[in-house]
Amino acid sequence: MSVRLNPDLRNELVRFGIGDWNACYHCGTCTAICPLSEEGFLFPRKKIRLMQMGLESQLESSVEPWLCYYCGDCTKTCPRDANPGELMMSLRRYLTSTYDWTGLSKKFYTSEVWELAWILFFAILVVISFLVVLPSFGYQYTAELTPEGGVKVNSFAPIPIVEAFDWIMALIVASLLISNIIRMYYKIIWKNSKTKVSLWVHIREFWLLIFNFAVQPKFSKCDDKRYWLSHWFLMSGYTIMFIVIVVYLPWFQTEEILPVWDPQRWLGYYATFGLLFGLTVAIIGRFRKKDVKFQFSHISDWLFLIMLTLTVITGILIHIFRINGMPMATFISYIAHMAVLVPMILIEVPFSKWSHLAYRPFAVYFTQLKKHAVPK
Ligand code: SF4
Ligand code: SF4
Repeated sequence: MSVRLNPDLRNELVRFGIGDWNACYHCGTCTAICPLSEEGFLFPRKKIRLMQMGLESQLESSVEPWLCYYCGDCTKTCPRDANPGELMMSLRRYLTSTYDWTGLSKKFYTSEVWELAWILFFAILVVISFLVVLPSFGYQYTAELTPEGGVKVNSFAPIPIVEAFDWIMALIVASLLISNIIRMYYKIIWKNSKTKVSLWVHIREFWLLIFNFAVQPKFSKCDDKRYWLSHWFLMSGYTIMFIVIVVYLPWFQTEEILPVWDPQRWLGYYATFGLLFGLTVAIIGRFRKKDVKFQFSHISDWLFLIMLTLTVITGILIHIFRINGMPMATFISYIAHMAVLVPMILIEVPFSKWSHLAYRPFAVYFTQLKKHAVPK
């Protein structure tokens, strides 16, 4: 692997949230205390060194920043107040931008004006679709109720159209994420000219990817297990919601008022609880700033939390208004819900904070591949 030196790298990293990149004097305390650092994959000190020396190519091919779950132990013990935990967080933002071939991730992470403008652009498109485009095809708001007293959601948000839109959006996001993961793989595994990994190892270790996505076992190694739990609730709630909305929309967006014990309602309630629980812990933590992991917030952290919270709240409102027969309130909250959800999916998942949902489990998988690499 060729070594690329970028004297400007340190200044560039500051734009991703790194504060004092020069405070560290390499005592190594952080690496010694880190519960997730291991032989062959030592961090955070080594990564700080690469950053300070401007070794861009080595930094880009690092998997270690993704193995850090920001427990904050290193920051608490650093004698120089260098905040290594936040340095690793900033490196994850930087790495996300290096995997993204469109260049949009870098724009979103380094310019809040740029990110807000795109969020607004997609939100306006959604509102125009509901107020102008769909009514021109005969799908419009109606104050009529179903025989059980529920709101006729399908009159203004027809399932075949919403479902087709969901699938198109999911395909775009998946294509972007997959292409970025291929670039991540190239930088971490393929580019290494000294070692190779057999196809059999790729297949044999693949289960790790699924397991780490579903359970996040590395996170549970941090001393404070509460954050693993709240993160797991948030992630499982989001995954369930995403699957029912994209794959099972006709089953989920029903006009029938189902009994309270129906599995569809319970699945929705669990997902809502999981999301609200995880969001509450993250938002209160960031306001209180008591725990190290919440003391510094980048604008992208807040944007993500605000958008996800608004998505959940408007989703709850749709449910309440729909089953209580309030058509206008349902109509307005449905548009508001989509106006937050669509930009969040299109921006946060492939380009910003939410992309770690994919990069983290892949990083664990790539780490395992690296452990089984043999000389060429
Ligand atoms: S970040 Fe702090 S603890 Fe870690 S090596 Fe540098 S000075 Fe030491
Ligand atoms: S924040 Fe925790 S997991 Fe991350 S480098 Fe520091 S000690 Fe390790």
